[in-house]
Amino acid sequence: MSGGCIFCKIAAGEIPASVVKRGDGMLAFKDLNPQAPTHVLVIPTTHIGTLTEAKDPGLLGKLLLFARDVAQEAGITTKGYRVVVNTNPDGGQTVFHLHLHVLGGRPMHWPPG
Ligand code: AMP
Ligand code: ZN
Repeated sequence: MSGGCIFCKIAAGEIPASVVKRGDGMLAFKDLNPQAPTHVLVIPTTHIGTLTEAKDPGLLGKLLLFARDVAQEAGITTKGYRVVVNTNPDGGQTVFHLHLHVLGGRPMHWPPG
């Protein structure tokens, strides 16, 4: 737990979240401010601030496969979905605990803006 980190508090069950899937050292829950019909966040339960700081390739691989499974279970795989990792201010990151956005249920645009 990193002091004051909102996603650490969700991982610890200290603040509520709409959990959709639990895994080995990982958690998926619905985004509070969804940007698509399906918008789920996938986090490691241990604190890593940003993708830049991530060191464990095994953990990163597990997070990506977990995000894939979340999309599968949400029924958005065939039509398609997007996995996003906003990193630092120019990347649009606002919560500094590594998370993957899983977005789907509508066509996504490119470039993302
Ligand atoms: P980012 O801007 O990539 O750091 O994404 C942070 C995301 O966390 C945003 O999409 C927020 O809507 C979402 N968020 C912030 N607080 C919560 C919360 N307590 N529960 C669920 N989602 C949250
Ligand atoms: Zn944290």
